Amino acid sequence: MSKRKPFIAGNWKMYKTSFEAVETARKLVRILKGINHVDIMIAPPFTALAAVYEVVKESSVMVGAQNLFWEKEGAYTGEISPGMIVSSGCRYVIIGHSERRQYFGETDCNVNKKIRAALNNSLVPVICIGETEKERDEGDTFNILDKQIKMGLEGFSPDDLKHVILAYEPVWAIGTGKTATSDQAQEVHRFLRSLIENLFGKKIAGSVRILYGGSVKPENIGELMLMPDIDGALVGGASLDAEKFAGIINFKI
Ligand code: PEP
Repeated sequence: MSKRKPFIAGNWKMYKTSFEAVETARKLVRILKGINHVDIMIAPPFTALAAVYEVVKESSVMVGAQNLFWEKEGAYTGEISPGMIVSSGCRYVIIGHSERRQYFGETDCNVNKKIRAALNNSLVPVICIGETEKERDEGDTFNILDKQIKMGLEGFSPDDLKHVILAYEPVWAIGTGKTATSDQAQEVHRFLRSLIENLFGKKIAGSVRILYGGSVKPENIGELMLMPDIDGALVGGASLDAEKFAGIINFKI
């Protein structure tokens, strides 16, 4: 089976004003001119989405949001609807990031509703899953991932799965400098692909892209991308700097 087209995404979290985000996006577009062997997405804060889109719209860099709320509109103070995200130029949305699960009480049930809302609005969800350090130490990694996938994707069809991206992000590796070894990550990615095969069939399992996230840097991306079931990366810290992020996108294997 030939590998899927790599996808490298940058999650800018709650960093950068609109002005700073535009500056970084401009640099990125300049450095990445002519690159098309990788799908590239950046997810600035909501307040910078429209401005960043204006900068990247003629380039190969695509824009994503970091979250959404599933309702179309209404009295939901502080929330952002799928339609608002689409109208800011986004084609992607990160859903279920561990920081949302940890600090904002996001559950697999919320994640499920958000994925549905994304798909209904032609947004590609980048669905984050991953175990904590304690869960890994207790030998629970596969159980946790099984539950996150089964609950998060409950009610979806193989056709829906053609429009999603999965991101395995071990919580203990996010922002900590600790990266899963490429073998550790591959072991989990293989497990996830076989789980998708059981739930949605072989064809979907062969085409769904599964990203790795957790302290990815220019120095370790090549080794990760050598793995047969790793299709790209969701990058936090190292995506905030255009040159570092471009160093990841231009990975050599
Ligand atoms: C993330 O926020 O999804 C992430 C993986 O962060 P970092 O690359 O900083 O570990």
